[in-house]
Amino acid sequence: FASSEEVDLAVIGGGPGGYVAAIKAAQMGMKVTCIEGRGKLGGTCLNVGCIPSKALLHSTHLYEEIKHAAKHGIEVQGAKVDLGKMMAQKDKAVAGLTSGIEMLFKKNKVTYVKGWGKFKSDSEVEVELADGGTQTVTAKNYLIATGSEVTSLPNVNIDEERIVSSTGALALKEIPKTMFVIGGGYIGLEMGSVWSRMGAEVTVIEYLNDIVTTMDSDIRKAFKRTLQKQGLKMKLSTKVNKAESDGKSVKVYVEPAKGGKEEVLEADVILVAAGRKAFFGKGLNLEAAGVQLEKGKVITDKDFRTTAKSGKIFAIGDCINGPMLAHKAEDDGIACVEKIAGKGGHVNYNTVPLIIYTWPEVASVGKTEDEVKKSGVNYKVGKFPFLANSRAKTIDDADGLVKFISEADTDKILGAHIMGPNAGELIPECVLALEYGASTEDIARACHGHPTMSEAIKEAALATTFGKAIHA
Ligand code: FAD
Repeated sequence: FASSEEVDLAVIGGGPGGYVAAIKAAQMGMKVTCIEGRGKLGGTCLNVGCIPSKALLHSTHLYEEIKHAAKHGIEVQGAKVDLGKMMAQKDKAVAGLTSGIEMLFKKNKVTYVKGWGKFKSDSEVEVELADGGTQTVTAKNYLIATGSEVTSLPNVNIDEERIVSSTGALALKEIPKTMFVIGGGYIGLEMGSVWSRMGAEVTVIEYLNDIVTTMDSDIRKAFKRTLQKQGLKMKLSTKVNKAESDGKSVKVYVEPAKGGKEEVLEADVILVAAGRKAFFGKGLNLEAAGVQLEKGKVITDKDFRTTAKSGKIFAIGDCINGPMLAHKAEDDGIACVEKIAGKGGHVNYNTVPLIIYTWPEVASVGKTEDEVKKSGVNYKVGKFPFLANSRAKTIDDADGLVKFISEADTDKILGAHIMGPNAGELIPECVLALEYGASTEDIARACHGHPTMSEAIKEAALATTFGKAIHA
């Protein structure tokens, strides 16, 4: 048993929300401790989320590019996947980045306590140390940044061998011949693309009548067509009743979402990507601290303050409301510690970009056309296809489009949606525009380098503000 001196801030969870908050607080002069149970910093994102998935997406995209290099006059014979090496490159990226955070902690003098935290009261956290024993951490303020975990479905038991979550799908030991992805959200589509590119026959099973239903409908239609052309099969409006593994393959019992005859399908592996829920480690004992939940998430006010009576317990990231994304968790973390320090932090959830790292990528910010229509605001729309963008044509990678939605009277941008090569690297211009309350005319009049993909953004802005693009 060990007890340490009181610190200014104790952060529980070392994911992108928690570790960024810890560093920022230390940079603002606070004495900070960060408690993390998984043995490594970086949370879901670095260990089993954003980073390993993007590593595999990149490696398999490279494989696709090599297979199609002949169109560029490059003959490559016998390209094949060495799965062990591909996984090792992914693991190297993860290891480098997670240990990098430990270095940042040292540099910024954040104390790293390895173990699972549990509230004893609203002013004391007990940590079950990874090396054995316990340590009590007392702090002036506490920050809950404990993240999220996978949600399964009734009668579907994840064994991470044949019935896998995204974590298992990032570490399969062989390429399955057939794979079902349950859930047509971004995680399912990214991981489905990874294994499809390596040769698996992938079928996405989705309860709703479309994939990523939160996406703007024009982009969604184009995206779905592209994924299908790439070989992803889709079984929509379909409910999964049960899945059974015999260790060699998996039987999946499905029926139409509206009800009807049950069908039994079989695949080598199924990936359950039907959603995520807040996670609290080995029992954070929120009751002892007076921290309440609503629909499984920690209730917070606009300053990230929980319901704890002391007013000194805050929460951020995936375990509170808002988009479950790493960059949102990071921004929550910074704004929260700024508030604790008496400064004016804030996060605008309306301008959090969503990116899907398939190829082409999809990136969006702000409202979809359907949302704007529903809100009753008069609006205009402008679109521009990458087929008419010179850079995209130059590299023969021209699938996709840019779409803006702006207020009819003021031209203020309400939403921006991109499907195209490196869309994730193009969206920040639109995020900034939305943050500044810019119009599409502002973008159309800003000089964009030539030849770049970003010219498609300028052209879509021209199409919105003046009704006509130059090159389409
Ligand atoms: P987490 O990253 O979940 O970190 C919380 C940490 O707290 C964990 O390490 C956990 O061990 C620790 N913890 C929990 N309870 C305790 C306790 N009691 N004591 C001590 N430690 C505790 N987001 C993106 O923005 N871009 C992407 O490309 C992207 N890709 C993804 C791909 C996949 C396959 C998955 C699963 C997720 C992806 N995400 C992506 C989502 C992203 O990973 C999360 O939004 C992000 O990690 C949330 O950060 P967080 O800090 O709130 O929580």
